Amino acid sequence: MNPDETAEHAELTRSERRVLRALGAGEPHRKVADGLGVELNTVRWHVRNLHTKTETSTPVALALWGVAHEGCCAAA
Ligand SMILES: [Zn+2]
Repeated sequence: MNPDETAEHAELTRSERRVLRALGAGEPHRKVADGLGVELNTVRWHVRNLHTKTETSTPVALALWGVAHEGCCAAA
């Protein structure tokens, strides 16, 4: 794990936090979309914003960020 990719807090919307948790649970984008009742493109849009806000570039880095921040900015 690269600590530089999990250090900074971020301001996430409720939808972004839900997407982050679903991805962290290993759900594919299609399943996340069905679970949230949104289009696949909407999930992709949230994921892009999550990468920007959390300054991560890979799904693994984003998931690690979510774990590191599950008690603060990624909390439900
Ligand atoms: Zn945080």
